[in-house]
Amino acid sequence: MATREQPADLYDVAILGGGLAGLTLALQLRKARPETSVFVAEKRPGPAPEAAFKVGESTVELSCNYFGEVVGMKDHLEHDQIHKCGLRFFFPAGDNSDLAERVELGPPLYPPVPSYQLDRGRFENEASKRVADAGADLFMGAFVDGVELGGDHHAVTIVRGGPGGERTTINARWVVDASGRAFILKRKLGLEQSNGHVVNSSWFRLAGGLDIEQWVPQDDAQWFERMKQRGWRRFSTNHLCGQGYWVWLIPLSSGPISIGIVADPRFHPWERMNTLEASLDWIREFEPQLSEALDGRADDVEDFLKIEDFSYSCKQVFSTDRWALTGEAGAFLDPFYSPGSDYIAMSNTFITDIVTRELDGEEVAKRVDAHNDLYLSAFATHLTFYEDQYVFWGNPAVMGAKITANNILYWGANALLFFHRKLTELEFMSEVRPDLERIWAVNRRLEELFRQWHAVDSREWRRGYVGVTDFPALIQRHIQLTAGFDDDALKAQLAANADLMEAVTVLIFNKAAAALGNGAPGDDVKIDPYKVSLEPDRWEADGLLGGSGLTVAEARQGPAGGLESCFADVVAQPALSPR
Ligand SMILES: Cc1cc2nc3c(=O)[nH]c(=O)nc-3n(C[C@H](O)[C@H](O)[C@H](O)COP(=O)(O)OP(=O)(O)OC[C@H]3O[C@@H](n4cnc5c(N)ncnc54)[C@H](O)[C@@H]3O)c2cc1C
Repeated sequence: MATREQPADLYDVAILGGGLAGLTLALQLRKARPETSVFVAEKRPGPAPEAAFKVGESTVELSCNYFGEVVGMKDHLEHDQIHKCGLRFFFPAGDNSDLAERVELGPPLYPPVPSYQLDRGRFENEASKRVADAGADLFMGAFVDGVELGGDHHAVTIVRGGPGGERTTINARWVVDASGRAFILKRKLGLEQSNGHVVNSSWFRLAGGLDIEQWVPQDDAQWFERMKQRGWRRFSTNHLCGQGYWVWLIPLSSGPISIGIVADPRFHPWERMNTLEASLDWIREFEPQLSEALDGRADDVEDFLKIEDFSYSCKQVFSTDRWALTGEAGAFLDPFYSPGSDYIAMSNTFITDIVTRELDGEEVAKRVDAHNDLYLSAFATHLTFYEDQYVFWGNPAVMGAKITANNILYWGANALLFFHRKLTELEFMSEVRPDLERIWAVNRRLEELFRQWHAVDSREWRRGYVGVTDFPALIQRHIQLTAGFDDDALKAQLAANADLMEAVTVLIFNKAAAALGNGAPGDDVKIDPYKVSLEPDRWEADGLLGGSGLTVAEARQGPAGGLESCFADVVAQPALSPR
C-alpha cells in the first residue's frame, strides 16, 4: 500500500493505526493542506475481509457528511455501501413474539439527509487505497512498538514482518493515536478515565441477511402502510429494545446482516451473552422472532465477537505538545445512536484544524484548549443519554419522548454546527456557547426526569407508531442540517433550538407528571424547564412553578406544537393485561 519501500526519516504527522479514524484523518489532512507529509502505520498486513471484520457499521448524519463531503468518499458511500432508512426502534409487547404489536419509532421514508450502513472492511479497503492515492505514506503490516515524545519531533518505532522483524524509527512533528483500543498514547500519558456507564456487547454476522418485515403477516395492511414502501424497514438500523438491552440489526452491502446485543449487566449478566451459544439462548428468551429467523442457519454465522464494559472517557484528547487522540483511542460512549463515527468526524476535524495551523506557524494553544473543552463537553453531555438509563430502554412512553428530545439535541446542536463547518471557529463558537449551554443543561434535567418517569409509569403499550415526521419541529431540525445558514441565521437557529428544547421539556414534564397521583400542574402555570422533577415536595423549594419558564399552553402553541405525536398514550393502545 505504501508508495515507497521505506518510510522517510521525517514527517509532519505520524498516525498510529490505519482504521476508520486514522485513514479518514490522513485523507482530511491531505485535502486541507496538500503539502502535509503524513505517515500511517497499520499493523494488519493486508486488505480487510468484508462483513466479518470490525464493529461500527451504522452511521448517522454527521459522520456521513464527514465521510462523504469532508473526506470525499461520497461516491463510495452511494455506490458501494447501503443507503439507510434512518434509525428504527421497537419496544416490547408481551413476550415479543409479534413485531406488529410492538410500538415502533422510525421514519416512514428515507430521511432527506442521507446516512449509510458501512461494511467496515469494504470501507477501510477503499479508504486505504485513497490514502495512498492522496500521497500519504500508509504502511501495512507496520506494528507501532514505541513512541517517544520529544521537543521538536517525536520518534515512532515500527516493526515490520512480525515479531522480531525489521525495526524502523521515523520522526514526526505531530503524533496522532488512532490505534483504537490499543490506547498507545492514552496509556503512556496516563489519560485513562472510566465513566459510570457499564454495558457489554456481543455480535455476529449472518450470511444471507434477514428481513424483519417477514415477521409480520403480509396482509397486516395497517402495519405495512406506516411506511411509504414495503421492504424499506430492513435498510434501517433496527433496534429491538427491552428493559436493560437492545439488539441491533444492520444490513451490510456485501450481503450479510450484523446482529448484536448491547446490555446493562444489572439486567442481563455478561455470562448470558459472552459465547455464541449463550447469545443464541438469550435471543431465544428475549427476542423469539429473531431466534426463529436464525433457526437452522448455524452455517450462516460468519463470526462471533464480544466486548465487556466498553464505554470510557478520556482526560484530554489534544495537546500543545503536538499529540492528539482520535476515535476509540480517545473516548467511546455507547452505540445506541451510532455516535462512534460522529466523534471520529469531530476529533479529526479539530485535529486537522490544530495541526495544519501549527504547521503553518500559527500559535495554537488557545485552539487546543477550546477544542478539548468543546469535544469533552459534548461527550459528557451525550454520556447522559446512556448512563444509568438502560433501566427504561423497554418503556415506549419514556423512550418516545427521550429519542425525540435526544434527536433535537443531536440535529439542533452538534450536527447543525458540524454541517455548517463552525466547530473550529472560535469566535463563533464562543458567541453561541450560551445557547449550547442551555441545550446541554436542559438535557441533563430531562434525562433525570426520564428515570423518575419510568419509576412511576412503566405501562406496556401496543401497536403504536411514532413516525418522526409527524412532529414538524423535529423533522425540520433534520432538514435544516443542509440549510446553508449564514452566521446570523445560524445563531438565531441555535437560540431557537434551545427554546425548542425548553418547550419540549415542559411538555414532557407535563406528560410525566400526569402519572403522579395529584396530576400535573395546570396548563397556565409557568414551568421552569431547568427545574423539572417528579418530586412534588421539591417543586416549591426548587422554584419549578410560577416563576420563569413557559406554560404548557405556550409550549403547545409555540415551538413544540405536534410533540403529542411522539407520546405512546396518544399513538398506541394500552396492553390488555399488565406485564
Ligand atoms: C459494541 C459496539 C458497537 C458499535 N457500533 C457502532 C456503530 O454502529 N456506529 C459507529 O459509528 N460506531 C460504532 N461503534 C464504534 C466504532 O466501532 C468505533 O468508533 C470505530 O471502530 C473506531 O475506529 P478507530 O479507527 O478509532 O479504531 P479501529 O477501527 O479499531 O482502528 C484502529 C486500528 O489501529 C490498528 N492498531 C492497533 N494497534 C496498533 C499498533 N500497535 N500498531 C499499528 N496499528 C495498530 C488496528 O489494527 C486498527 O486497524 C461501536 C463500538 C462498539 C464497542
